[in-house]
Amino acid sequence: MEWKADALKELEKVPENVRSMAKMGIETTVEKKGKNIVTLEDVNEAAAQFRAIMGNREKEEKSTKIAVVRCDIVSETCPGVACFKAFNKRKVHFEQYGNDAQIIGFFTCGGCPGRRIFRLVDSLLKHDIDVIHLSSCMLLEKSYAKCPHIEEIKQMITGKGVRIVEGTHH
Ligand code: SF4
Repeated sequence: MEWKADALKELEKVPENVRSMAKMGIETTVEKKGKNIVTLEDVNEAAAQFRAIMGNREKEEKSTKIAVVRCDIVSETCPGVACFKAFNKRKVHFEQYGNDAQIIGFFTCGGCPGRRIFRLVDSLLKHDIDVIHLSSCMLLEKSYAKCPHIEEIKQMITGKGVRIVEGTHH
């Protein structure tokens, strides 16, 4: 494959440790276009594609993935609107998150003593969960009786290496 002088010069800007890989990638693309000469335009096109891929990856990496676990008993009377309102407005216990944060899971403990959480955390780990919020209903002591298993539940989650935030909208 032939390279135009200005294309080669541009290629030299690529860090040495990945340059030959970049060269091979560009040549494959050019070949697919039915050409046998690499031009500056081909190099710039590859660079733009690379930047777009890295940009998306970076964006995805920065996005915090959140799940909320709540009391199974309370869920019979609560649709979870207040939790979502607090998240959507980044209020109370969600204040710390940027616009790109996302709730990827919203589930109940499965009933006393909350053993279902163990398996659900495993599922969430496959989706790169960053943090699990214990919903306010699990922590309040006035409106509902205090969860008698809260400490075990916390250990179950942190034991799997997932960070906890205590509370959602209160
Ligand atoms: S374990 Fe706690 S959070 Fe789960 S149902 Fe029982 S009281 Fe509610």
